[in-house]
Amino acid sequence: MSQEFEDAKRVMPGGVSSPVRAYGSVGGSPVFVESASGAYVTGIDGREYLDLVGSWGPALLGHAHPQVVEAVREAASRGLSFGAPTLGETALAQLIIDRIQGIDKVRFTSTGTEATMTAIRLARGFTGRDIIIKFAGCYHGHSDALLVQAGSGLATAGLPGSAGVTAGATGDTLVLPYNNFAALHGVFSAVGDQIAAVITEAAPANMGVVPPEPGFNEELRRLTQKHGSVLIFDEVLTGFRVSPYGWWGLEGRHERWTPDLYAFGKVAGGGLPLAALAGRSEIMDLLAPLGPVYQAGTLSGNPLAVAAGMTTLQLADDQVYARIDAFADRLIQVIDDRLADAGVAHVTQRAGSLLSVFWGVDDWVRNYDEASSQETATFVRFFHAMLDQGVLLPPSAYEAWFISAAHGEKELEKLDAAIAHAARVALS
Ligand SMILES: *Cc1c(COP(=O)(O)O)cnc(C)c1O
Repeated sequence: MSQEFEDAKRVMPGGVSSPVRAYGSVGGSPVFVESASGAYVTGIDGREYLDLVGSWGPALLGHAHPQVVEAVREAASRGLSFGAPTLGETALAQLIIDRIQGIDKVRFTSTGTEATMTAIRLARGFTGRDIIIKFAGCYHGHSDALLVQAGSGLATAGLPGSAGVTAGATGDTLVLPYNNFAALHGVFSAVGDQIAAVITEAAPANMGVVPPEPGFNEELRRLTQKHGSVLIFDEVLTGFRVSPYGWWGLEGRHERWTPDLYAFGKVAGGGLPLAALAGRSEIMDLLAPLGPVYQAGTLSGNPLAVAAGMTTLQLADDQVYARIDAFADRLIQVIDDRLADAGVAHVTQRAGSLLSVFWGVDDWVRNYDEASSQETATFVRFFHAMLDQGVLLPPSAYEAWFISAAHGEKELEKLDAAIAHAARVALS
């Protein structure tokens, strides 16, 4: 155990501000970070790591992109927070509205948790119904009603749900297996007229990457529309990451449907705390101050976060996404080749440029039960062998690996060599 981790544990539960950072499932001490730039993170001991955590998603352009940092610096020079409207919020809302269909209005929050929590409240206010449906293994932040079978963080800690969440808080939350059309039809025919909302990760990446089966999201759209329920597309992770239009851009945009509400976060804030809830006026205008659904935030729409998000979204042009997609193609090839060379059973799954490896499984993983059948012990050995070689992976077998536009040829070569070695270690 490192001294700095000991010190941190003395003053913070588990030594961290968010659980997965504590390396609980892989063991050892987390890397304490001094700084980061591009595809690299530097530890407090001066050691440089090739980073595939990317702050868990936001670092689409790579860490500390000079233009993003400059935009934040410029905003900071004008004041850190006002608790009053700014032009930047209108501009960022307009960018989101122009880019993604089905959105007339945007409400900014500081975290994805607030965005999805508010989406649920809004859906209940709009429909006057109580029941919400979520899918096992999907994570929507840590609000009470959504903290059941909620994927990576809990799975990594081996918890089914959270203590401190009352049966009342989750009593109206029905949890269904993901990608299961029959279960979905069953629940809609039983209680369809009582369902306020279905909330889903547009493409789940918090139980490892488990993309929707063809037609699954479209079926969610069809059923919710038919029964007057709200479809909430949680794009906190996928939004502005897998395409300029998020996951909706890879699916609904071509099939000509939109969800009723979107939640965004992570990339949308460019590394600062910003998230958003968005949808058509008919629903969004129920929010206070126009309507009866209350939601607020002292730091919501913070000017530094808006500057970081706006600059990130403007810089993330088609070339950025093409580059990240191409890197994902080649990295998957490297993973599959090197793990196969070493004889490590695995399946590499992807959703756009998001990818993750399921260890010790033979077949494509379609839901949380199948994801949970993987051999995490293999991953633990692999993880530490990568870390020893200076590669930082998310410290859980249930997380996606995050690529940035700063990952290039040099990084791919380094990963190729590191994975080849780690694969042999993982098998031992
Ligand atoms: C990260 C995440 C959230 C929660 O966002 P926070 O900013 O961590 O509160 C919600 N939904 C999904 C899909 C996420 O990946």
